[in-house]
Amino acid sequence: MVNGFRPRTLREALQILSANNCTVMAGGTDLMVQRARGFSIRPDFDRPLVFIEPLEELKHSVRENGTLHLGPCMTLSDLLRHPAVPDPLKEIIGMMASPPTRNMATLGGNICNASPAGDTLPWLYAMNAKLKLQSAEKERIVAIEDFITGPKKTILQSDELLTGILVPDTRFHLNRYRKLGQRKGMSLTKASFLGMAEISGNTVTDIRIALGSVAPRIVRAAEIERSMLGRYVGDINAAAAVITERYQPLITPIDDARSTAMYRKKVSLDLIRQFLETLSGSPGTGTKSE
Ligand SMILES: Cc1cc2nc3c(=O)[nH]c(=O)nc-3n(C[C@H](O)[C@H](O)[C@H](O)COP(=O)(O)OP(=O)(O)OC[C@H]3O[C@@H](n4cnc5c(N)ncnc54)[C@H](O)[C@@H]3O)c2cc1C
Repeated sequence: MVNGFRPRTLREALQILSANNCTVMAGGTDLMVQRARGFSIRPDFDRPLVFIEPLEELKHSVRENGTLHLGPCMTLSDLLRHPAVPDPLKEIIGMMASPPTRNMATLGGNICNASPAGDTLPWLYAMNAKLKLQSAEKERIVAIEDFITGPKKTILQSDELLTGILVPDTRFHLNRYRKLGQRKGMSLTKASFLGMAEISGNTVTDIRIALGSVAPRIVRAAEIERSMLGRYVGDINAAAAVITERYQPLITPIDDARSTAMYRKKVSLDLIRQFLETLSGSPGTGTKSE
């Protein structure tokens, strides 16, 4: 038997965490795989579990003062159904796992698992999401890129929970997402690409590029993005290969069971270049200027 706590409120959950050395379980879809020991042998949990998935306080989503607040215990299926969740995130979630797994897997679990292959992460990075971390004593808000420090590593303390995901309500006319897997659905990510851009009068006013599964953490390069702001889409198109080259040193994938480093690097760079080349055909552009 696995020992565990079933708190009824968030406050109770935080008090349990401050008094005991526990493992937090949300949907359990990562934890049960990581701790599995074989068929019909109970998973290896060395500490008591705290089951947080049923906590209603962690399942709300609301749009307020230009920020979308997402509850970490919303399952991927909850997010797909929720009217406040933006379509680009729904598109990503629609390609994750299978419907039964999506009914269990939570957004908070995808973030706290801190895998570079976590599919919601490129979007959260690109949107400059912030995370609310709470313990019984204090709360803090941190940027997602400061939260994840390496593969499966975060700054979360043992008495803290992720209790909120705050996403600025920014819309982009151009959204492109590519998930490369073994097949179209139900497959883990070999590499992923997210490009978002806002073009006005043939000029780039905002552009964000994030890549998953190609480095220890999600790749996003604020300096390269800034260098494209205010430039004509025609210029970006012409300089696409040069700009893409700047991403070379940031893309440091590994060989593993899913793919090779060489394939991951090549497709990621190709996807960046193609995205930059197609900006000129996107909404907000009229006649092409060179
Ligand atoms: C068949 C299958 C297919 C999958 N396909 C995909 C896929 O396509 N893409 C993808 O990205 N992932 C995939 N996954 C991985 C997994 O489903 C997701 O990462 C999921 O979002 C994890 O959520 P969870 O609630 O199950 O996390 P859990 O397993 O409960 O927890 C994961 C980690 O996060 C911690 N944690 C969870 N919530 C909190 C919180 N609120 N505060 C503090 N710590 C917390 C836990 O302690 C644990 O360390 C798949 C898994 C399976 C089994």
